[in-house]
Amino acid sequence: MSHKLIVGNWKMNGGLSANQTLLDEIKAGLGAVRCRAGVCVPHPYLAQVQLLLAGTPIALGAQDVSIHASGAYTGEVSASMLRDFGVRYCIVGHSERRQYHRETEVEVALKVKQALACGITPIVCVGETLVQRDAGETEAVVKRQLAAVIHENGHCISEIVVAYEPVWAIGTGRTATPEQAQAVHAVLRAQLKAATPHHERVAILYGGSMNAANAAELLAQPDVDGGLIGGAALKAADFLTILRAASR
Ligand code: PEP
Repeated sequence: MSHKLIVGNWKMNGGLSANQTLLDEIKAGLGAVRCRAGVCVPHPYLAQVQLLLAGTPIALGAQDVSIHASGAYTGEVSASMLRDFGVRYCIVGHSERRQYHRETEVEVALKVKQALACGITPIVCVGETLVQRDAGETEAVVKRQLAAVIHENGHCISEIVVAYEPVWAIGTGRTATPEQAQAVHAVLRAQLKAATPHHERVAILYGGSMNAANAAELLAQPDVDGGLIGGAALKAADFLTILRAASR
């Protein structure tokens, strides 16, 4: 992976005027940024943010996609609809969706398939809970989650991005140490290597309380190809600091 990838996950935050202010500030500070970047925004703001990002190197992303292509699925948003707004990335299987919306591994794999079919890069989130880590199950859990996606998507698997997000580190201010992150990233890298000869195309991001202070150290790990950033992506100065750390 030559250029690191930093993606903001705005979650259910923002508003027309707040989005404009945040992106104006980020755009104004992009000067020395050389990494790849994106922001995943709530669906209603895709059109607004598509316009605000036009002509910038920041890619547009969404936070979820339907397992269906079209039809009677009230409230769902299809991959082709996302594509209509120039969406480049879509987060799939975030732990908040697995936890609060009972998304299964099979559904996550089908969402990946829908995104890929429409030329959208799915950012597939995997990660263990604290209970699972304490029980020594981290490796087995992340491998099982990724295996479901590999099984359903076969030779297209080199077109995904993977995000290792330990559930206990998301939004908690508790970050995996660089060594903990690297250890799991190496496991995921080996799994991808066994699945596709084009494994080097797959970026493996770390997510979980990555911030302006700890980004450089995490990003320095050999198998950490970038970051998926929640809270710190809502503050222009912090997001820019992370983008700069990823540009070194
Ligand atoms: C996330 O939601 O993907 C995330 C990593 O959140 P935070 O950075 O706030 O922990």
